[in-house]
Amino acid sequence: MHALSAQVREAGKRIALVPTMGALHAGHLSLIDYARAQADFLVVSIFVNPLQFDRDADLDAYPRTWEADSALCAEHGADAIYAPTAPAMYPGGFATKVSVAGLGQGLCGEHRPGHFDGVTTVVAKLFGAVTPHLAVFGQKDYQQLKIITRMTADLDMGIEVIGRPTLREADGLAMSSRNVHLSADERAQALCLRRALDKAQELAQGGEREVQKIKSAAAQVVEGASLARLEYLEVVDADNLAPLTRLEGPARMAMAVWLGATRLIDNDALN
Ligand code: AMP
Repeated sequence: MHALSAQVREAGKRIALVPTMGALHAGHLSLIDYARAQADFLVVSIFVNPLQFDRDADLDAYPRTWEADSALCAEHGADAIYAPTAPAMYPGGFATKVSVAGLGQGLCGEHRPGHFDGVTTVVAKLFGAVTPHLAVFGQKDYQQLKIITRMTADLDMGIEVIGRPTLREADGLAMSSRNVHLSADERAQALCLRRALDKAQELAQGGEREVQKIKSAAAQVVEGASLARLEYLEVVDADNLAPLTRLEGPARMAMAVWLGATRLIDNDALN
């Protein structure tokens, strides 16, 4: 990958990278299409990164759909797919960890120990191998986007990090590779995430500034779904992710909800 990228850079071309774990859906494809339009050479990486999984069962059950993924990458104009194996990424003796302090502490970081260090470590490696000019990520993983933006700036990587909006199913459920694990009943009740975000937005737009009131109204929506278990629901500063007590500047509501054995996350702006 490094040799190919060096050749492409030598030819004066601009490289875009879209990192994924495969099981591609329309959300991924929206990032790929965006990146395609911004660059001369488009790399999609597909790597189910063991370092970022905090549960073995989740790693084992993660959908792997290589045939469909590679066809979709070709259809959407990717010039290369970078799909290393886990032993190639982490050979014996691998000893480096990239860790961003602060931003990774709350929200998902609090409930998935080691997850974001796994993400930053693998993304630093992907950036090192692909040497992209720009890299495109989804706002669906808002905390991840903020952490990677910070890492890229802090380590002088010289890569433009772009965050793109969340693609949703027609009924509002955020697209996710994990949605395939939902039973029909769980799928129906998974709408409680979007509904909770809608409730919060409705209150904020109606002038409510007390975050506690917004959070409890949104939590009630989730609690109304009998199969759903709320892991966290938080309203944070949209930039530094610090928890807020009052809505003043740009804010984000973020949540994680379990439906049976499947953990779903969602977030949206709250102004
Ligand atoms: P993943 O394969 O889940 O690691 O996701 C790869 C990239 O796709 C990440 O930058 C995600 O934020 C992004 N992504 C995942 N789901 C969506 C979605 N529904 N809409 C837009 N981007 C998404």
